[in-house]
Amino acid sequence: MNNHLNQDTICAIATANGIGAIGIIRISGEKSIEIAQKCFKGEDLTKVSSHTVHYGFIVEKSQESSAKNEDLDINHLSINIEEIKPDELIDEVMVAVYKAPKTFTAEDSVEISYHGSPHIAKKILEVLVKNGARLAKAGEFTMRAFMNGRIDLAQAESIADLIASENEASRKVALNQLKGGISNEISLLRGELLNFTSFLELELDFGEEDVEFADRTALNALLDKIEHKLNSLIESFQYGNAVKNGVEVAIIGKPNAGKSTLLNALLKEERAIVSDIAGTTRDTIEEVLHIKGNAFRFIDTAGLRETADEIEKIGVAKAKEKIASAKILLYLYDEFDSSAAEVISFIKEFERKDLKIILLHNKIDLNGGYFENELDTKIKNALFPDVTNTIIGISAKNAESVEAIKTELSHYIEDLKDTESNVIVTNQRHYEALKNSLSAINLVKETIASQISSELLAFELRNALENLGEISGEFTNDEVLGNIFSKFCIGK
Ligand code: GDP
Repeated sequence: MNNHLNQDTICAIATANGIGAIGIIRISGEKSIEIAQKCFKGEDLTKVSSHTVHYGFIVEKSQESSAKNEDLDINHLSINIEEIKPDELIDEVMVAVYKAPKTFTAEDSVEISYHGSPHIAKKILEVLVKNGARLAKAGEFTMRAFMNGRIDLAQAESIADLIASENEASRKVALNQLKGGISNEISLLRGELLNFTSFLELELDFGEEDVEFADRTALNALLDKIEHKLNSLIESFQYGNAVKNGVEVAIIGKPNAGKSTLLNALLKEERAIVSDIAGTTRDTIEEVLHIKGNAFRFIDTAGLRETADEIEKIGVAKAKEKIASAKILLYLYDEFDSSAAEVISFIKEFERKDLKIILLHNKIDLNGGYFENELDTKIKNALFPDVTNTIIGISAKNAESVEAIKTELSHYIEDLKDTESNVIVTNQRHYEALKNSLSAINLVKETIASQISSELLAFELRNALENLGEISGEFTNDEVLGNIFSKFCIGK
């Protein structure tokens, strides 16, 4: 595939930005060992075995010493720093040599471990480029691994996810995908579908003759199986997305209900501005809290009240936007400043099937504890007549019952986790491709049911195969690929 892309030898820093004890520069491509050798004093890298590490020096050889390169006695193990001209020496390094095909990119590769200074890294890259390498683009190493058939597209994407994983749950899901999770599930079914398609194409080849190689009943059964699998994968995305991107939680309530105080209590840090003046939380503040390895992204919203204040208006609009994308809504009220009608109409406005609403009766310390009163009963009856415990009495100020809120939040994830699928879809692109595949499968079923023509059936089957193939990258255009790999960091 696209071998022209692979002709250059590329190099980049593989370690994080900034200073570190050690930094690693990676080189990949046909000429990587040859280029590394041109900048290296130590053992002759072109003669060493694969997967070995060598001590030596990165040097910028002067024209004079390059010309005499053959005569220089540098290719022995006991090279020592005094033997190198000071103006040629860049750093003392360890160089690892990996020969194709058993490398990450399936190409010859070299890794140079240098003293982790960004300045040294820059000098080494410069000398590599002078000797024929070029700087890698974002994601180019992984793209080569994909192009050379080492990994499929879903696995390549899982590498980006793994690098970006910030908690246990997202690390595990990415690792499972790297092992081929989603691709395996899909490719088995796709293979079976491909068989049917081949039989059908054979039927078409026979033209006028009335033969049926592709058993329609068996095909229908297979389509049902695929549909079922696709549905369970699609369903798992809600959990996968929560794991990967965290769950957005909006905290809402009237000004002074205690939203900022609650956020601080949840985060145990004084982040949001707490004030007695109504409407002071003007900007939307977002903070992340990890509960049992899952990320919850809290949005402290400006008070949801109609206001003439221009700056506050912007805050309110933003808050409404945030609630629209939130998965959990924490609604705060207190009995001194809220009526049941007010709370009920607020909640009714934002109620959604996929929005978990947790009502918080705040400032219970002013009443010496929580007792369900008339206000709560009215709210409960109007909003959640069948469910108990939908209102939690809290004191944000004293951090009382904050743990109960955290437990409720955890339940949200646990309920989502209860999915039938072994593989969890976390990637938006996969999610879209799965949905498209499902529509394509449904079209195939409709075509069979309407018995229109084998040509149309073959067409719809090919369409379904393409859609299924998009996940692992068997059918993906260059634009999509460019988009996926450009999101990687340089050096990956
Ligand atoms: P926001 O406008 O909803 O963000 O409200 P704030 O968090 O700024 O709180 C408004 C006022 O209510 C502050 O004076 C808080 O100290 C006070 N407050 C918040 N929570 C409680 C609580 O649980 N008990 C009491 N007594 N006061 C609270």
